[in-house]
Amino acid sequence: MAGRHRKRPGLPVQIPQQRASRPVGMVDARTRVEHLVPDDVLATHRLNYLTRCGAVILAASLTEPGRSRCRECAR
Ligand SMILES: [Zn+2]
Repeated sequence: MAGRHRKRPGLPVQIPQQRASRPVGMVDARTRVEHLVPDDVLATHRLNYLTRCGAVILAASLTEPGRSRCRECAR
């Protein structure tokens, strides 16, 4: 029986690659302007987020449509 207990190669399971940080649109509750927040910042789950343009926003309801989009973030 020796030598017949070889391990079968495992199925190639790939760990999903981390996608590149993708900014998420977030409306500022005060100005109603939609800024882009990098998802790593979003992952901190705070009320205030540092946006792509450097503004710190107070997150509005996600159903809040917002009035306009931040031009600085869109660049
Ligand atoms: Zn912005």
